[in-house]
Amino acid sequence: MQESYIDALKNPIFQTISQAAEELAVDCYVIGGFVRDYFLDRDMPKDIDVVAIGSGIKLAEKVASKLNGNPQVSVFKNFGTAMIKSEGIELEFVGARKESYQRDSRKPIVEDGTLQDDQKRRDFTINALALSLNKGNYGFLVDPFNGMEDLGNKVIKTPLAPGITYSDDPLRMMRAIRFATQLNFQIALPSLQAITEHKERIKIVSNERILDELHKIMLCPKPSVGLSLLHETGLLPYILPELTALQGIEEIEGQKHKDNFWHTLEVVDNIAQATDNLWLRWAALLHDIGKAPTKRFHKKIGWTFHGHEYVGSKMVYKLFKRLRMPLNDKMKFVQKMVLMSSRPIVLSEDYVTDSAVRRLIFDAGEYVEDLMTLCEADITTKNPKKQRKYRQNFKVVRQKIEEVEARDHVRNFQPPISGEEIMATFSLKPSKEIGIIKEAIKEAILEGEILNEYEAAKKFMYLKGKELGLEISK
Ligand code: ATP
Ligand code: MG
Repeated sequence: MQESYIDALKNPIFQTISQAAEELAVDCYVIGGFVRDYFLDRDMPKDIDVVAIGSGIKLAEKVASKLNGNPQVSVFKNFGTAMIKSEGIELEFVGARKESYQRDSRKPIVEDGTLQDDQKRRDFTINALALSLNKGNYGFLVDPFNGMEDLGNKVIKTPLAPGITYSDDPLRMMRAIRFATQLNFQIALPSLQAITEHKERIKIVSNERILDELHKIMLCPKPSVGLSLLHETGLLPYILPELTALQGIEEIEGQKHKDNFWHTLEVVDNIAQATDNLWLRWAALLHDIGKAPTKRFHKKIGWTFHGHEYVGSKMVYKLFKRLRMPLNDKMKFVQKMVLMSSRPIVLSEDYVTDSAVRRLIFDAGEYVEDLMTLCEADITTKNPKKQRKYRQNFKVVRQKIEEVEARDHVRNFQPPISGEEIMATFSLKPSKEIGIIKEAIKEAILEGEILNEYEAAKKFMYLKGKELGLEISK
């Protein structure tokens, strides 16, 4: 029995498409994410996919001619697709097609096909749902693979045998895991097995596409769902081997360390509750990666990870480079967070000097808040007493930061005396003395020897100049 869902097609754009299709005498359907999200009651997506049983490009052109302002049609001839942007919506048109794949490429050989052919080549049953835009059966659902049932059961299944779907286009493995994380769905067991079996095929997928999916997973409310699926299926070592290396607990002479992989996943989930900042979430994901290469066992003190923050921050660069992530301020931010990730812990101890707090604020600069968020997310102890104690400690650190910053303003530290002024004062040409004096002023401020203000710094500059044997110019 077919059912009609005219309600999904309230946006007048659908009438326009329907009219255009009728004039061209082609059938067309809205398909994929839009239909799925309608039934899931998710926000209406910004992209709408339309499949024409005929030329998608011609349909797009006809639709554009009917829309206000005659928007431009971007045609991708090679793919047989066309795109129109209208009123904040991206309409993507494609001709129904039949695909066959070769082993070494994600690029299929494409022929014209029926609606069914097209639905078959879609990744998941829940993404193969189509609603008719044709006059005779407007709003009718076409669901040959029981996508509705799978939506109800919250499962991700493939229209074809999973081995075929995933090995044809291994990006679908990432998509399955991403949808499972986004929608809180289970991946059906045969799919999970097929992903595990074909994991190696991820090698033919470009870094850019993998990253797209990874970012989407990281932006979910509970990224650990996706990350543990990546781990469970064996995809993770191909993507983030640094994380896989954190997995496992070693025991020597009765001493164990914690499993830093599962700890990391908890930290990521924690931070996801506190921030939507993708890069801070990445910092949480990578904050312990230096622990695998720095792990040592010492007879007296047990397990140590000395210098893991430093090693980890170096690894961040290599990892970003390998995945072709931007090597820009985002990377530097992640590095900084990893490098500083243990600093506030020391400050939570009972006796803390103001200068230690000043140094933390100075080093973290504008990211001191983010650093505290990361440290708080890092608390994963299951012992409620310890949990409370650590939280309280960080609250104290936050207070100290606020107090010190209110007084000393080192967060966006600007040297109170400029290089030019030092040069003019001592009649200096550009020389290393200028740097020495500037550095000494900064140190004196951070150590609390002088206040962070002009007059105090000026006096200090004279003293320092004298020490260096410089003469004050007239
Ligand atoms: P979202 O837009 O939230 O990422 P979506 O399902 O709309 O989800 P798109 O990437 O916009 O995903 O793709 C639109 C539709 O195209 C999908 O619903 C699916 O039917 C199909 N599709 C996309 N990528 C693939 C793929 N790699 N293999 C098979 N079908 C795909
Ligand atoms: Mg979409």
